[in-house]
Amino acid sequence: MRFSPIAQISRSALKHNIARLRQVAPHSKIMAVLKANAYGHGVIQLAQWLDGVDGFGLARIEEALTLRDSGIGARLVLLEGVFNEEDLEQAAHHQLDVVVHDAEQVAMICNAELSQPLRIWLKIDSGMHRLGVQPAQFDDLYQQLSQSNNVQQPINLMTHFAVADELENPQTVKQIQCFNKLTKGLPGERTLCNSAGALSWPAAHGDWIRPGLALFGANPMVGGRAEQQDLTPVMTMRSKVLTVRALAAGEPVGYGQSWRSNKDTHIAVVAMGYGDGYPRHAVSGTPVLINGKRFPLAGRVSMDMITVDVGHANVEVGDDVVLWGQGLGVEEIAECASTICYELLCSTTARVAYQYID
Ligand SMILES: *Cc1c(COP(=O)(O)O)cnc(C)c1O
Repeated sequence: MRFSPIAQISRSALKHNIARLRQVAPHSKIMAVLKANAYGHGVIQLAQWLDGVDGFGLARIEEALTLRDSGIGARLVLLEGVFNEEDLEQAAHHQLDVVVHDAEQVAMICNAELSQPLRIWLKIDSGMHRLGVQPAQFDDLYQQLSQSNNVQQPINLMTHFAVADELENPQTVKQIQCFNKLTKGLPGERTLCNSAGALSWPAAHGDWIRPGLALFGANPMVGGRAEQQDLTPVMTMRSKVLTVRALAAGEPVGYGQSWRSNKDTHIAVVAMGYGDGYPRHAVSGTPVLINGKRFPLAGRVSMDMITVDVGHANVEVGDDVVLWGQGLGVEEIAECASTICYELLCSTTARVAYQYID
């Protein structure tokens, strides 16, 4: 038996989540966002499994070229655009859609000599204030791009929400209004929604939704859980119990002796630590599933191990452990570690083996 963690990645869960997103936004195409190695799930395998979707979103050109190199012919969109002429020509050559979000990129595109015209998405800063052209610049930059021979017409249109995960926050309505006002009557396709937008802001669905997290079966809404949205976790992080030891009342466990048992109990040591991507800030009490039952983390997370208070339950060396995934939502673990489930999914390290299952 091997005592090391395995990230199990489920194809049927992924299919379920895609079907769910199609049901949520029946009139929109899906740009499946697979940046950061498909949120830690393995980008090539996931792109192959997702051959039915309409396109893929990536953050950086290296990510898109990895997919092209492995024979993925689908529509690929560079969500951060490109930053130099060499990459611009690569994008044209490999038929990558490019997001354009500032005046420098517009000038570079208009002045470049390209082997073929680019398909572009002009991104508007409707209130996120990270990327995107300012509303006051929009008409001018749109005109420049619509007259350029380097650009396939019509120009597609995009924006990104800052707080789509907060239902009560009026900011999203303001962003939708800003985007709609600027783009009224223009011919291109439109995309506004990440996962939270797709799940909670139907008025903004547009021609394409851009889900990342929801594809992988986690709920992006603040305090949300996958089941509330009928999503199924694609990744289940599994490991094994390495040893079980008795611990007397009052004795501490682990580095810093930060946790002490208030009763006679047993501690299961599990082969999973921050060196594998388990969050070091997970507090004592964070749930861990052993043989399908929840037990509390006890003491600090180490590099290779965690310690779990299993009381007098029947837990033995080699028993199955789930750190997050099926039966234990990654959202809950993220909350116990004061982070977001996006970070946990992306943090899996190279030491963890991947197993792709149906
Ligand atoms: C990452 C990203 C997405 C996907 O966001 P999720 O919250 O994971 O659905 C969509 N659009 C852009 C521009 C992104 O950078």
